[in-house]
Amino acid sequence: MTQRGPYRKRTVKAPPRFHFFKPAGVSMRTLDKISMSVDELEALRLADYRQLDHAEAAAKMAISRPTFTRLINQARQKVSRLLIDGSALVIVAGNVDFRETLHYCSDCGDLITQKVDTEVLDCSECGSVKTEDLATKYLLQQQTNMEIKGSPN
Ligand SMILES: [Zn+2]
Repeated sequence: MTQRGPYRKRTVKAPPRFHFFKPAGVSMRTLDKISMSVDELEALRLADYRQLDHAEAAAKMAISRPTFTRLINQARQKVSRLLIDGSALVIVAGNVDFRETLHYCSDCGDLITQKVDTEVLDCSECGSVKTEDLATKYLLQQQTNMEIKGSPN
């Protein structure tokens, strides 16, 4: 990235519920892993799952239409590679702002949609205290990635 200003954050509705996929019956040792960022996944959700046109999808992510087109093309390329080659898919952090988050209970698996930055409460389903804010989890991962790359900020 050049220093012409901060890299624009992409708006993503909510953190993904699943972050790992692999083909059945193939050992992890022999698998190639493909990393897909949360913003690439959001592009697939908007253009392919929800069938929005690129202009509308780009507006929802607060990015330009050419940027959206680049993002969706990368994401589709990855999906086709994993389906054909039988790779594993890992969803990783991207440079994103979430509009909503999910609070996940690791005891009962309950997921509750919340506004970002709301306090994580005990699980309303089972009362467990082992609840986690999935948006925070991805944003922490994003910071860690930036530190690994040696960004001064
Ligand atoms: Zn629970």
